[in-house]
Amino acid sequence: MIFDVLTLFPSIIHAYTGESILKRAIEKGIITVNVYNIRDYTEDKHRQADDYPYGGGSGMILKVEPIYNALCHIDKDGRKRYKILLSPGGRLFTQKVAEEFSERYDHLLLICGRYEGVDERVKHFIDEEISIGDFVLTGGELPGLVIIDAVTRLLPGVLGDENSPREESFTTGLLEYPQYTRPVEFKGMRVPEVLLSGNHKLIKRWRRKEALRRTLKNRPDLLKTIELSEEDRELLKEIKEEEQWI
Ligand code: SAM
Repeated sequence: MIFDVLTLFPSIIHAYTGESILKRAIEKGIITVNVYNIRDYTEDKHRQADDYPYGGGSGMILKVEPIYNALCHIDKDGRKRYKILLSPGGRLFTQKVAEEFSERYDHLLLICGRYEGVDERVKHFIDEEISIGDFVLTGGELPGLVIIDAVTRLLPGVLGDENSPREESFTTGLLEYPQYTRPVEFKGMRVPEVLLSGNHKLIKRWRRKEALRRTLKNRPDLLKTIELSEEDRELLKEIKEEEQWI
């Protein structure tokens, strides 16, 4: 998978992709991250990438020409890339969208806005606007990195089998069950006995029940979007009997 990132702050992208799992994915050749500085595509001697908004108002707007010039330059290689503008007004990025991107595309281009956003005409040169949530950040670099991270960890060979994303939050439609590691006891808090029992059937049932409990408590909306099995209904009945907050 190739990611092209257009930004005014390349070092933000390099800093994050230069560590840990993304760094290893790059070293293994599973992903490539090409970073382009929008300022390099300005046309004036002051290398001005932003300007005041027509009609007045606060803040600066990223100009259309440098972004257009950068896209023309990048597109010269003739490769097909899916072009995304990071924007609070875009389609909401979820695990499902990460799966869609990882399965459908092998080349994503991400445009990071800054200041008060980008000139509306940039939208003529992209495929889609994506938002990472109903909040406003100072720039598109973090949203771009969120997409790179979430998509990369779904690619074969990035996580070992033992770290398979299959049972993680959202992938199963539920939030993930609680996880523990050593020590068995910390400040009087013990790891649930069932996890020490070696009984895989009981562990599986406990995990499903705790995933249901956590989802019911924190994200009850998710329960409406999945098909519950007979066992799930039984577990939910038990949870409702056990919990006072319901
Ligand atoms: N004035 C814009 C608005 O009200 O929609 C917000 C601009 S924001 C301060 C600057 C840039 O940060 C945006 O152009 C976008 O690239 C990025 N950004 C901020 N929040 C975002 C979000 N939730 N999802 C995706 N991108 C975001």
